[in-house]
Amino acid sequence: MTDNTYDVIILGAGPAGLTAGIYSSRARLRTLILNEGTAGGQLVLTHEIANYPGVDSISGFQLGNIMKKQAVKFGCTVKSNINITAYDFSSKLKRISLKNGDEYFGKTIILAPGGLPRTLGIPGEAEFKGRGVSYCATCDGDFFTGKEIVVVGGGNSALEEAVSLTKYVSKITLVHQFDHFQAFPYAIEEARSNPKINFIMESTLSGISGDETVRRVGVRNLKTGESTEIATDGVFIFIGYVANTDGFKGLISLNNYGEIIVDPEMHTNIPGVFAAGDCIVKRYRQVTTAVGDGAIAALSAAEYLRTY
Ligand SMILES: Cc1cc2nc3c(=O)[nH]c(=O)nc-3n(C[C@H](O)[C@H](O)[C@H](O)COP(=O)(O)OP(=O)(O)OC[C@H]3O[C@@H](n4cnc5c(N)ncnc54)[C@H](O)[C@@H]3O)c2cc1C
Repeated sequence: MTDNTYDVIILGAGPAGLTAGIYSSRARLRTLILNEGTAGGQLVLTHEIANYPGVDSISGFQLGNIMKKQAVKFGCTVKSNINITAYDFSSKLKRISLKNGDEYFGKTIILAPGGLPRTLGIPGEAEFKGRGVSYCATCDGDFFTGKEIVVVGGGNSALEEAVSLTKYVSKITLVHQFDHFQAFPYAIEEARSNPKINFIMESTLSGISGDETVRRVGVRNLKTGESTEIATDGVFIFIGYVANTDGFKGLISLNNYGEIIVDPEMHTNIPGVFAAGDCIVKRYRQVTTAVGDGAIAALSAAEYLRTY
């Protein structure tokens, strides 16, 4: 084995990749994590994690740091802020090429590049992210107990998340761009019959403003062009999710949304290539689900290596 050859190369150091790193290095497999961003992934964007079992409340940055330290303690090498230029999964030994000319070879690869919720791209959205603008009802709903919020979107997740948010908030104004919803009838019926949810159809948000936190949103009617302002304590945006899988197009099987298709043991369609976390086809994207996927992917990689 050369210095640049590893039993397991993990692409991505979010919760899924770091968990895979903990499991495979603890199994005495030579493990390298290559991460294009900051270690921790989306965790570093998260002010507070209050739903990770065993930890009462912790900043996302801290939780990511603990996971990284745990992986390193077991012998895993973590390289962050690197720039990958090519992936070659065509041979038994897979190759990853970096912009600086370095090449790494992996007997197995675990893809854990995560993704991000789709954004509206309107003024104020980035500024108030984590200060009233949220993309995750499960993560942040509790912070809005008794408050009035705006929900944006008209698919299954928007309607279902709006209904789940009614457990906490006093009122929801749901803003959707079309005159109909792109959701299952049961989800539409449940949202329509909930007395806490009001609907503004054929409209979009034009901006988000406030001071320490969100106070107002601009709403533009897409049919008449008329603009209004409404007071609100927060904005939840559910308009889809973008997996970081552009670089894998044509190399492994993805669904129409660019999510990696895996079986329950996290195998992709390429032998020796596994995937875990927010990048795979799944419904619930949480730290807990990502770490579960990461553990399964690492155990499956170890199993594959037994007969390599
Ligand atoms: C604002 C916000 C708040 C959230 N709050 C909560 C919460 O309270 N509770 C909860 O359970 N979940 C929460 N989530 C969701 C949770 O953070 C994600 O589900 C989880 O981080 C997914 O982990 P992951 O490892 O799959 O991917 P990510 O965390 O997205 O990490 C992927 C990493 O891979 C890197 N990468 C991307 N492409 C490549 C590549 N080709 N090669 C190498 N590296 C690559 C990325 O830069 C990133 O560092 C929140 C998400 C956001 C955005």
